[in-house]
Amino acid sequence: MDAPQVRVTHDAPLAPLVWFKTGGAAEMLFEPRDRDELSAMLHDLDTATPVWALGLGSNLIVRDGGVPGLAVRLGKAFARVAVEGDLVRAGGGAPGISVASAARDASLAGLEFLRGIPGTAGGAVRMNAGAYGRDVADCLVEATVVRRSGAVEVLPASAFGFSYRHSALPHGDIVVEALFRGVPGDKAAIAAEMDRIAAEREASQPLRSRTGGSTFKNPPGHKAWQLVDAAGCRGFRLGGAQVSEKHTNFLINTGDATSADIEALGDEVRRRVLAHSGVALEWEIERVGHA
Ligand SMILES: Cc1cc2nc3c(=O)[nH]c(=O)nc-3n(C[C@H](O)[C@H](O)[C@H](O)COP(=O)(O)OP(=O)(O)OC[C@H]3O[C@@H](n4cnc5c(N)ncnc54)[C@H](O)[C@@H]3O)c2cc1C
Repeated sequence: MDAPQVRVTHDAPLAPLVWFKTGGAAEMLFEPRDRDELSAMLHDLDTATPVWALGLGSNLIVRDGGVPGLAVRLGKAFARVAVEGDLVRAGGGAPGISVASAARDASLAGLEFLRGIPGTAGGAVRMNAGAYGRDVADCLVEATVVRRSGAVEVLPASAFGFSYRHSALPHGDIVVEALFRGVPGDKAAIAAEMDRIAAEREASQPLRSRTGGSTFKNPPGHKAWQLVDAAGCRGFRLGGAQVSEKHTNFLINTGDATSADIEALGDEVRRRVLAHSGVALEWEIERVGHA
């Protein structure tokens, strides 16, 4: 029997794969079936070809001119979640809600915050995602990474150089598995906390919009949304992009926005906030590709 074809799609539209629903195509999109296939692909790939990981696109502006190189998307094959004592082992493609739910079912507390993060475990490690006073750095034990060279390595959490919404993981390295530590707790209390998080988000965030989550990092001593609001940007529009009326640190695609509209709106908001309050906002949303 022939070996199954490696799945690489050329000129693959990325807009359907990201929350904003805008942007160009990936030069190549690769959805590996397992980590060996990913490792072999990266090992064999011309070293001049850039490699980047695409999760659920919940923190991403894909620029309209598309993204050169190989985009690696971890699909269902990487979405498994298993509990091992106090530890939760998640594939790099597992949604945050799956990790939080598995922990709850095993009466493990401390991972409830992942309930509200609509990305993958791999994306959460890369971004040091967090909410409600906790982040990945607080609960990650180790993660398995397929390096740009194709080498597979298990790295302790201390190797990721975590800071606020940042890790030092080199672009081109792909997180294929993450091991999180929970703390034995009361299942009903864990479930109640997850429900509280879901309700709080529903009330305060434009969850049913085409968005990218928090646009800017909270500067030390400030809330980004308050600075944006104070600068008069609530509801501000540029092309098809708008600052959310519901949460001013969220940008939304009102229907026909381009990625250029969204990025230009974000940059204009930064200018207005700087002029109004003297604070330079830093993008939290990752931007990839050519304009
Ligand atoms: C409604 C909404 C609410 C949100 N709330 C929060 C919140 O409370 N807290 C918070 O921190 N974030 C929040 N976010 C942002 C986002 O969900 C997180 O940053 C999330 O961790 C991104 O995961 P992703 O899989 O969608 O990554 P993507 O958006 O696809 O990618 C983001 C970055 O991670 C990299 N990446 C993705 N997968 C991998 C991988 N397997 N290995 C290596 N790198 C990878 C990408 O290359 C890119 O640099 C929110 C977003 C939305 C839309």
